Amino acid sequence: GVPEVPLRPIAERRASRRIQVGPVAVGGGAPVSVQSMTTTRTSDVGATLQQIAELTASGCQIVRVACPTQDDADALATIARKSQIPVIADIHFQPKYVFAAIEAGCAAVRVNPGNIKQFDDRVKEIAQAAQDHGTPIRIGVNAGSLDRRLLQKYGKATPEALVESALWEASLFEEHGFRDIKISVKHNDPVVMIEAYRQLAEQCDYPLHLGVTEAGPAFQGTIKSAVAFGALLSRGIGDTIRVSLSAPPAEEVKVGIQILQSLGLKERRLEIVSCPSCGRAQVDVYKLAEEVTAGLDGMEVPLRVAVMGCVVNGPGEAREADLGVASGNGKGQIFVKGQVIKTVPESKIVETLIEEAMKIAEQMEQDGVGP
Ligand code: SF4
Repeated sequence: GVPEVPLRPIAERRASRRIQVGPVAVGGGAPVSVQSMTTTRTSDVGATLQQIAELTASGCQIVRVACPTQDDADALATIARKSQIPVIADIHFQPKYVFAAIEAGCAAVRVNPGNIKQFDDRVKEIAQAAQDHGTPIRIGVNAGSLDRRLLQKYGKATPEALVESALWEASLFEEHGFRDIKISVKHNDPVVMIEAYRQLAEQCDYPLHLGVTEAGPAFQGTIKSAVAFGALLSRGIGDTIRVSLSAPPAEEVKVGIQILQSLGLKERRLEIVSCPSCGRAQVDVYKLAEEVTAGLDGMEVPLRVAVMGCVVNGPGEAREADLGVASGNGKGQIFVKGQVIKTVPESKIVETLIEEAMKIAEQMEQDGVGP
């Protein structure tokens, strides 16, 4: 019940149905949630729960686990029960695991229709089981595993092909009165992916799970995802996101959170406003920014800290922030809420900023600002 820093979404959110993934609402104006996926063998319950705990600590709100074997399916009930965040079972190829996941109490099940043979024949039973357990289904279409019929029709995984596949599968569920669905249409090319989601957003009112699939190693994947999600979220499209990186899943969560914060879709915590440095800099800005970031890591209040290399833009930016430093002549002017409160030697800048940040954080917590 603590007041939060108001969100400032860049566009009105697309109107969509709302589903419940465990306690997390997706769609219908609910805050955009951040997901990731474990990399452990799901059958290794201990390791999987350990990774889920790490993901939870990094801010992940929904976690997906792969379910390629019977041993994995057998582990789902314990994982779903012990996880702190809702667990989605990710099913390819085997419809029997869809039923297992629903019965295990997973918060949702992801199916990839292109990868489940005889899927169409089993939809009625899946819809019935999901309905009985109140389990939503994500229809997760992937460019790499597009339905063969559509691949023949379109020649390749075009936006139109991805959308047609998703809506066709959704229509099979709809025939049985099941609409507890969210959809993803992933592609590794942001241009195709953006267009696919744009079309999908116009043609249905299901909540959308955004993802650039196989986005690549951390640097490339971060940029691809930021560009693609930014293009969509800035038009109000997207209800939950997963950044896919060839990197530890907690990194995906960090990137996802940062994307949402950058777009005003998630409450900001610590934000470092640091200059890129230039020929006028009178301190090592990179080092200073890194040390301040490290020193304030884990701060839970929405603090904006400016780290500026000289007095040109320094005082201006530092004044806009809650706290800041403008360096010059081997010294740092420390600003709090626009006022220079002290000038300290360069060697004391980091510790002074951290000290002052702690004071402000304490005050904010007393005033009830923060998560
Ligand atoms: Fe350069 Fe100063 Fe601007 Fe930093 S604040 S980029 S050092 S002019």
